[in-house]
Amino acid sequence: TRTHDEEGLPHATKKTMADHLRRLESLFTLTPQRMRMIVEAFKEALETGLEKNDQVVPMIPTYVFGWPTSKEQGDFLALDLGGTNLRVCLVTVQGNGQFELTQSKYRLTEEQKQDDGQKLFDFCAECLKTFIESNFSGENEVKAPAKLPLGFTFSYPCSQAKIDHGVLIRWTKGFGAPNTEGNDVAAMFRKSLEKYQLPVTLTALINDTTGTLLASHYVNPKTKIAVIFGTGCNAAYMERVENIPKISKLGIDPSSEMAINCEWGAFDSFEHEHLPRTKYDTIVDESSNKPGEQAFEKLISGRYLGEILRLVICELIDDGVLFLGQNTYKLEVAYCFDTAFLSLMESDPTDELLMIIGIFSHFFAVETTLAERQFFRALAKLIGKRAARLSACGIAAIVSKMGYLDEGCLVGADGSLYNKYPGFPDRVHEGLVDIFGDKGRNILTCRAEDGSGVGSAIIAAMTKVRKDAGIY
Ligand code: BGC
Ligand code: MG
Repeated sequence: TRTHDEEGLPHATKKTMADHLRRLESLFTLTPQRMRMIVEAFKEALETGLEKNDQVVPMIPTYVFGWPTSKEQGDFLALDLGGTNLRVCLVTVQGNGQFELTQSKYRLTEEQKQDDGQKLFDFCAECLKTFIESNFSGENEVKAPAKLPLGFTFSYPCSQAKIDHGVLIRWTKGFGAPNTEGNDVAAMFRKSLEKYQLPVTLTALINDTTGTLLASHYVNPKTKIAVIFGTGCNAAYMERVENIPKISKLGIDPSSEMAINCEWGAFDSFEHEHLPRTKYDTIVDESSNKPGEQAFEKLISGRYLGEILRLVICELIDDGVLFLGQNTYKLEVAYCFDTAFLSLMESDPTDELLMIIGIFSHFFAVETTLAERQFFRALAKLIGKRAARLSACGIAAIVSKMGYLDEGCLVGADGSLYNKYPGFPDRVHEGLVDIFGDKGRNILTCRAEDGSGVGSAIIAAMTKVRKDAGIY
């Protein structure tokens, strides 16, 4: 039974909702000044990560040396183990800045993410086997080389000592598969490849950001940075080896360049000194499988935004502000509120906010008043905007550290949030202007080429060129 009519909440309650909105606004809004402070702290974290091992922001050397020439070519397999899907691609890099791609996608179950690590890699190998069988049977069979080079895009922090090796530092994005952290995941995957007797050679283990960096640069050489805003968030860029003190003893030509996988999602982890966390963020963190970790990512990425909004709603249900007299048990399940719902709520074009009615009635079996719907939309906007502005802080830190502001640069960007959340790119750009003033307009993000597929293939191709030339 409802205690109010369709026109909105009774006057007293309505005011309370507005009060709450004002309170939430001040919690979630980032002023330009605050953003600049975050950028300064971020820059320091990036520098420290380059200097020493085992820092909060690990700044991982990837052993991807320099930019592609756009002359790389050949057929490559790419396997992409992301936060949500497993994807297998066959990429033909054509040597003229172009490529062709065939792919299959497999959804990962929550169980697979928590089950034994070797089983997860076995599953990857199984999918790869199916893919190879369906793409290299019949006519194509003759075309399949004896051993296809495979780029493995593994989008989790791995410390690397060479390109085809990587020790998993920690799982992120809700993964928890035991017996994997601290192990060389390339070796684990090779074991699975052998088990299924697959005719492939794992030539490169790459992060999705590194792949995106190279793939975007392959298409547009103005690209200097790559970012992912998806289930997780992270960035990569190209650094001069002489500016990576922690690898100075390896004897690598100091004037050469190497891609750095920043793993910036870890910024401000554990100490929580710099980022504006609300009590909702604290709950998200403490109830996650990795409390304290990925502090920056937890305020930004698609895995968490819906949950943050849900926690605010639940608090206001408890306070008797929302859904008066209705049974709201369906909203009480952790992570039931998908970040895609925030996108939908923000983009609802109708005055009555009909899409929001639909979301709440269909998925959560509750009715909403117009006032509630307007409140939810406003709340989604606060959370989405904060994510975009924090993302701008991360980009600004790299831009400022590298001195890219005056000449400007492109930032290749990928991920569900960047590609699907309405207004996300614009908000990032506005954020950059808030940080840098007018010059912020010199920094443009643009939709990246498929880094996990194409980028992985390009890196595999670059690796092959170096191997053939006897380097590393
Ligand atoms: C991972 C990164 C990855 C990012 C985007 C983060 O959780 O730690 O390695 O690049 O998600 O997929
Ligand atoms: Mg991905």
